[in-house]
Amino acid sequence: MPKQTTKYLRRLLSLMVICAVVTTLLPASSIHSNETIDVFVPQQTNDTTVKKKAKKQPSPNRSGKQNENRKKNQPPKRAVKVSWVKLQQQYPGAFMMSGSRSQKKVALTFDDVPDPRYTPAVLDILAKHHIRATFFVVGDRASKHPALVRRIKNEGHIIGNHSYNHAIFSKLTNAQFQKQILQTNRVIKNISGLSPRLIRPPYGDLLPQQVVWGKQNGYTIVNWDVDSEDWKKNPSSDVVMSNINRTLQPGSIILQHAGGGVGQSLSGTIEALPILIEELQEKGYELVTLPELLGKRAYR
Ligand SMILES: [Zn+2]
Repeated sequence: MPKQTTKYLRRLLSLMVICAVVTTLLPASSIHSNETIDVFVPQQTNDTTVKKKAKKQPSPNRSGKQNENRKKNQPPKRAVKVSWVKLQQQYPGAFMMSGSRSQKKVALTFDDVPDPRYTPAVLDILAKHHIRATFFVVGDRASKHPALVRRIKNEGHIIGNHSYNHAIFSKLTNAQFQKQILQTNRVIKNISGLSPRLIRPPYGDLLPQQVVWGKQNGYTIVNWDVDSEDWKKNPSSDVVMSNINRTLQPGSIILQHAGGGVGQSLSGTIEALPILIEELQEKGYELVTLPELLGKRAYR
């Protein structure tokens, strides 16, 4: 082989080796990661703080078509939040925060279940008083404690959808929002055979287009008009009771929790519950489930 050709081949070979090494060492920046990271949800206006898993956002797409799809699928840059009262007027029957004011009925609702620390105690008290309530289930918690979900169902309570990982709905794309609902319903269905129609957004926080999607797909979004504020600073049973009595009236939907975040105590809720039930009954209220209060179907 001529000397010139051998030299050329050697150079080519070393170039190929360098290329292979560089490719191996490069960070996989273009790979869209679906890995989850643990974050704490800050306490906002309502509902409890739970440790949630948030999806790591994929890096922005550069190609024109993908970019267009991304835009279409995202909440508007200035996501227009509408007050609950306005949502209720705009989407009657699709977004609700109370029942009829003309009947002396109220509904107890418990969010962030199942939680082995608190859900069994709440269920025990309800069973003792023969009261049926509505429980809003978080999908990833249900996966961890399926027996508790079955217990809620078997004791005659209603199960609703409270997202998969307690996400803040107004910060999600339409696709992410729908995934939160559908994934949770799948988990609940696998465990209990039930596919809930009632949705309660974490923190009661949502966008009008999410109400529209719910309406088009046979869901009812249900917030509340009475906040026990049991999510706030581990209140005593007295504080829980006075928070409830502040805005209670016929048709009220009462927000409480039967599951909590790290460091959160719901002992005030547990202690207040028998007192609340007895006080409501003394005042002549009937305690009913949300489907009964709202005249809505619970499941598909
Ligand atoms: Zn919640």
